[in-house]
Amino acid sequence: MMIRTFGEVAAMVSGTVRNGDESLVIRGVSKDTRTIGAGNLYIPIIGERFDGHDYAKEAFRLGATATLWQQDRGEPPEGVPAIVVDDALSALQRLAARYREQLPVKIVGVTGSNGKTTTKDMIAAVLAVKYNVRKTEGNLNGDIGLPLMILQMDEGTELAVLEMGMRGFGEIELLTRIAKPEAAVITMIGEAHLERLGSRTGIARAKLEILAGLKEGGLFAYNGDEPLLESLLSQASKPESIIGVRFGSGADNDLWPSHVSVEADGAAFTLNGAKKPEFRIPLPGRHNAVNAMAAVAVGRHFGLSDEEIASGLGAMKPTGMRIERMRGATGLTVLNDAYNASPASTLASLELLKELIGFGRKIVVLGDMLELGDEEERFHRNIGSALSPDQFDYVYAFGPLSRHTADEAMPSFPQGRVRWFDNKEEMVRDIASVARSQDIVLVKGSRGMRLEEAVQRLVDVQ
Ligand code: ATP
Ligand code: MG
Repeated sequence: MMIRTFGEVAAMVSGTVRNGDESLVIRGVSKDTRTIGAGNLYIPIIGERFDGHDYAKEAFRLGATATLWQQDRGEPPEGVPAIVVDDALSALQRLAARYREQLPVKIVGVTGSNGKTTTKDMIAAVLAVKYNVRKTEGNLNGDIGLPLMILQMDEGTELAVLEMGMRGFGEIELLTRIAKPEAAVITMIGEAHLERLGSRTGIARAKLEILAGLKEGGLFAYNGDEPLLESLLSQASKPESIIGVRFGSGADNDLWPSHVSVEADGAAFTLNGAKKPEFRIPLPGRHNAVNAMAAVAVGRHFGLSDEEIASGLGAMKPTGMRIERMRGATGLTVLNDAYNASPASTLASLELLKELIGFGRKIVVLGDMLELGDEEERFHRNIGSALSPDQFDYVYAFGPLSRHTADEAMPSFPQGRVRWFDNKEEMVRDIASVARSQDIVLVKGSRGMRLEEAVQRLVDVQ
């Protein structure tokens, strides 16, 4: 974590010191009184429903050494060391940017519509074979999370893999200018956040902003199956020279997975048609084999051999709820993919379920895909028409938008095999009455649908 004096921190954020000795030592930062540690600098973030300034006294009671203080919030509390700044959030971002400049660390930035967290975990596991690595914890990928992640690093951190998320234009650019990555990855372009970005072209442009902060001569690994990235690359603001590596599912890419075999708890593949070495990942699905190509590109860039990369991938610990295989009490297999859903990621998960062998019946549980803008109905209908009774035995659709999924699927399935619910409890009871121990259930939906509740109940009873 960052260790700097109070005076140094004030200079880094271009703030004005109130109270306190400039030689006070600050150890780390925190924006949250629930997790604040002794010696921390408290960052009072102003949210929609709360103002961190209201908790500053509490932060000191819990051991904070100093606090930032936004100038329009009146005077800082009496007698506590404070740094008055124009804006608390941008001061946090400035602090992270300055601190990053002072560290020898090399950063890998990962963005994309789907697969950021997964790919970040893969890259970090690969680099950890050879280096002291840090990575974004969970999903802290935004304008607060990324600065906090940077401030957790220290002089000994050799490489850091940071996830960069966004909802609109300019956000990835802000993050990449703070992080100044040595390598940038775009996993893929989907339809998430169409509401704000208007079109897939808009989404691709917003993701390409990651190049704005890339270091001269840095690596750019991107999805070559997506023609938009290739075609918009020349217009993106980027350094004069970059090393471009295209990865994807087909042999027209620089890196592609071959001899892919897919199981419920992982996948195996080789590189570019070779026989050896074999790579294994503890995440199922062809799309994850493609995500792993980004890890290969980054691993090679930082001097790892393919054997080292393979051993790193094999040892990775995935973040939960991304097609997490779970076992029910009576043996039912549940693929918990309830973390999020978009059209592309839903199709990817359906593709996986199609390919799996050795199970009884295949049951699909789909919740609404949110934030898709005007065309949300069409996207749900498309998923419905992608569902075939040759591949799936039962389809459960949950939520108002998923009604369209069900409507579209229903005519091709036998009577009663496509069922729509707007009550989670009722749906779970129905699934439980249908599912047998040999069966496999895929559960997928947007975060707001909280389908993990259904997963938990299914696992408990089946
Ligand atoms: P968020 O924007 O919520 O942070 P993310 O980009 O970090 O999401 P993950 O959490 O890694 O993405 O995965 C989210 C979902 O996308 C998972 O259901 C996963 O199965 C799916 N997914 C992962 N990689 C791909 C891919 N390359 N193509 C399509 N779907 C993918
Ligand atoms: Mg994520």
